[in-house]
Amino acid sequence: EPVVGVLALQGAVREHVAMLERAGAVARPIRRPAELSEVDGLVLPGGESTAMSSLLESFELLQPLRERIAAGMPAFGSCAGMILLARQALDARPDQHQLDGLDIVVRRNAFGRQVDSFEEDVDFAGVHGGPVHAVFIRAPWVEKVGADVEVLASVPDEQATRIVAVRQGAVLATAFHPELTGDERVHRLFVRIVRDAST
Ligand code: GLN
Repeated sequence: EPVVGVLALQGAVREHVAMLERAGAVARPIRRPAELSEVDGLVLPGGESTAMSSLLESFELLQPLRERIAAGMPAFGSCAGMILLARQALDARPDQHQLDGLDIVVRRNAFGRQVDSFEEDVDFAGVHGGPVHAVFIRAPWVEKVGADVEVLASVPDEQATRIVAVRQGAVLATAFHPELTGDERVHRLFVRIVRDAST
């Protein structure tokens, strides 16, 4: 079974651990560089990206994590995790760190003009058996994608359709929280990516 870490500095850690185990992985909370070196893939949970960014630095995980992602380690970011994985975040603090695992530009708190949170059923490419019930909590959207980025899911907004799930190689990200719904299909997709990368 693949060993998948969940970055455990802040945010929705336990929910991801539970979903990964249901999806057939061995899941471990990660707080130290030595723990990071022992996993086959990593989930970056939702929470608060500014806080997580500075915790990554104080726990000395920023550089090792950048290096592992650049070397091809599979990663899955939900919400704040998506923001951290992006190459650029708009409406973020200027000193926020980016892990640069995805050639995307995200906008923080993008849906928040009328409601902070909402739920919607979204079609998710690569996830079979019907739409995924997506929970958005002060969520970002993806404003630009590079040529190597696959768009997996979008939702209609007032002005336009907004991209809310992407994949580039072994890096997956959702603007919403698949760990909160009891539906482990997105985690299964990620565990499959981890398995394929380690064989
Ligand atoms: N708004 C948060 C941020 O900017 C993300 C919210 C979430 O992860 N649910 O980091």
